Amino acid sequence: MEYTENLQIEKSETSKINSVNFNKLDFGRVFTDHMFVCDFADGKWQAPKIMPYQSLSFEPSARVFHYGQAVFEGMKAYKDDNGKIFLFRPDENHARINKSAARLAMPEFPKNYFFKGLEALLKLDSEWIKPGVGNSLYLRPFVIATEPAISASPANSYKFIIICSPAKSYYNSPVRVLIAEEYSRSADGGVGYAKAAGNYAAQFYPTSLAQQKGFQQVIWTDANTHKYLEEAGTMNIFFRVNDKLITAPNNDRILDGVTRKSIIQLASDLGITCEVRQITVEEIKTAARAGELKEVFGVGTAAVVSPVSAFEHKNELFEIPELENSYGQLFKKSLLNIQHNVSEDKHGWRYEVK
Ligand SMILES: *Cc1c(COP(=O)(O)O)cnc(C)c1O
Repeated sequence: MEYTENLQIEKSETSKINSVNFNKLDFGRVFTDHMFVCDFADGKWQAPKIMPYQSLSFEPSARVFHYGQAVFEGMKAYKDDNGKIFLFRPDENHARINKSAARLAMPEFPKNYFFKGLEALLKLDSEWIKPGVGNSLYLRPFVIATEPAISASPANSYKFIIICSPAKSYYNSPVRVLIAEEYSRSADGGVGYAKAAGNYAAQFYPTSLAQQKGFQQVIWTDANTHKYLEEAGTMNIFFRVNDKLITAPNNDRILDGVTRKSIIQLASDLGITCEVRQITVEEIKTAARAGELKEVFGVGTAAVVSPVSAFEHKNELFEIPELENSYGQLFKKSLLNIQHNVSEDKHGWRYEVK
């Protein structure tokens, strides 16, 4: 662990914090004073650095620009009313970025670098984490291939970076979604389970078509038959039929979300039945027609829980009336309370940054 001594910290001379309106934050547009950077060269990760948030320069031939060799994570830091800082299940994010990296033939990032880097960065930019349930600092670790060479093969040099952006939980007004009938997000044997940059670029066009029709998001179905409901653009999805929840099982097309697996656990703690199984579009339409579809909601770190107010499939529109005492709001509140150190953390999900 000679690592800590090796972490170079170059502090920013000034802070931008006073120019930021924390009550009016547009998600992901404002960044804190510092960032964490670590280079992979000569077959290993070099000494990491924390430096002022700044532009970086790359050769135009850097492989990431040509072949999309890039993966990322999304996580948050929270502050309680006593000023303690917490992460939520950060081991999961570390494991997942390495799983994503392996799928894109990129090197794994060492766990001690990940944690020491995050902790040092959060302590330096601590003022940017506002207390109060719903406030957080969104953390974006990512890795890109920097080697200047445009042959189509994995790079020999990479940059691992963490940037931080203050956030309020967003996507809170209910969304209208279109169920995919033609386009696909991922396929068997593909990279759907990885947080690979290209997965998102590929969704922008079909999502823009959905937006032209008045829907904010697409719910992706399996690429082979378009019969099974899988997940949304950056969120896993739950359906509530009467009092039972259903969510799709993880497979190589679906991102294994931390929020999803936490909600499955919370449902079990609360005695709510949650079936993890394939879900057909038809059964959800049938449930909706019978008035049995009570809720549909997306779940993910950024929005926590995002309720769906309507969906369309084969030109048939289904409205889902807003429910008082919804499961979605219950899970959102339970998760936020655990994340902000307001309620008991019986599964050991909180990680205090000391
Ligand atoms: C990040 C992401 C999720 C949600 O994962 P969390 O760990 O809960 O934030 C779901 N689906 C996709 C496609 C994602 O990229």
